[in-house]
Amino acid sequence: MSVDLLRCRKCGHEYPATATGICSACFGPLEPVYDWDELARTVSRESIEAGPRSLWRYAQLLPADPPADAASGPGFTPLVPAPRFAAAVGVGEVYLKLDLSNPTHSFKDRVVAVATAKALEFGFDTLSATSTGNLANAVGARAAASGLRAIIFCPAGLELEKLRATTVYGATIFGVRGSYDDCSRLVSELAGEVEWGIVNVNLRSYYSEGSKTLAFEIVEQLGWETPDAVVIPVGSGSMYTKVWKGFQQFEQLGLVDGALPRLFGGQAEGCSPVAAAFAEDRRVTPVRPHTVASSIAIGNPADGDLTVEVAHASGGGVYAVPEDEIGQSISLLAETAGIFGEGATGVAVGALRAAVERGELGERDRVVLLVTGTGLKTPQLAEASGAIVEIEPDVDALLAELGVTA
Ligand SMILES: *Cc1c(COP(=O)(O)O)cnc(C)c1O
Ligand SMILES: [Zn+2]
Repeated sequence: MSVDLLRCRKCGHEYPATATGICSACFGPLEPVYDWDELARTVSRESIEAGPRSLWRYAQLLPADPPADAASGPGFTPLVPAPRFAAAVGVGEVYLKLDLSNPTHSFKDRVVAVATAKALEFGFDTLSATSTGNLANAVGARAAASGLRAIIFCPAGLELEKLRATTVYGATIFGVRGSYDDCSRLVSELAGEVEWGIVNVNLRSYYSEGSKTLAFEIVEQLGWETPDAVVIPVGSGSMYTKVWKGFQQFEQLGLVDGALPRLFGGQAEGCSPVAAAFAEDRRVTPVRPHTVASSIAIGNPADGDLTVEVAHASGGGVYAVPEDEIGQSISLLAETAGIFGEGATGVAVGALRAAVERGELGERDRVVLLVTGTGLKTPQLAEASGAIVEIEPDVDALLAELGVTA
């Protein structure tokens, strides 16, 4: 549903719902204002179940009207049980939320779907973003499908797979000689000079709402119940905090049975400003990223402090995962569940293991782990335990190799 107002999360100041991301009074983030009386009257489990098999089935809780191709995705990704993985990590039940089955193989298709709907509504002809890779893929693809020009800013030196999976859609990438945070600063300065829809700058208030649909889907796919915990990789903290908001909004509308889940966040040790703030019970201070988990390498996370607040409010936590455990964790999930996730997934698995080690999760718990991106974009990260053996096309030689005697 389109919204009329944005409200500052910090000072409560209200603005007309235009392409602005921050409060001019206090620089706080702006969020869409929904008509809760109207929602209480019109949203039900039945109305949602009658919707398209995509995130647009929750359109009334999103700040944009559904596009013409709402039925074709993204979202409504599979939620599948992973019993062998659950046994390996020592948790009662684990469900994997397979966001690698989105059109560009990461959760970023969700946020870009909402931002692009707004860009078209506002009449922009250019879609732009600052990205660590996955967002670039999603913006490139959605811009192509919508007839928009795409211009994307990434730190120079990103994985070739991610760059190619963006330029294939006709997008232009500027590889900025610096970190993600340098890109971010550059694009914030540019934003005032151009009339573009920049998904994580002037469209951020709308864009970030797309992440709530992860919570909505988890609840619906568990038969309108909450899990005990959700494990989430943390970059800027946008997804983590909006997933919480999604659970809260479903509770507010009386759509969900059960207590709200505890949210466990993971960061790679080489870029863990939020985990450090949680551990030391202080505000987030920026760091310079040195991590293999490039998709969540954000040293100055916009929603870092709110992530720490939500971790406390939900009874969860945010943990740093050692760099040398990320590849092993990717392999553990692949070997026990048949799912090949990316660096951020290795980090989520590591955070789950950390929570188990601390006794915070165990045999009594039903846990959802977000698999937010595919390992195929960063194949070099996984520690493969299988083998590749070259042989002659000769059955006797093969039998000898296999140790089979005729
Ligand atoms: C962007 C991203 C995240 C984290 O997103 P934030 O909202 O910035 O915290 C997690 N996983 C993957 C694969 C991503 O691309
Ligand atoms: Zn404000």
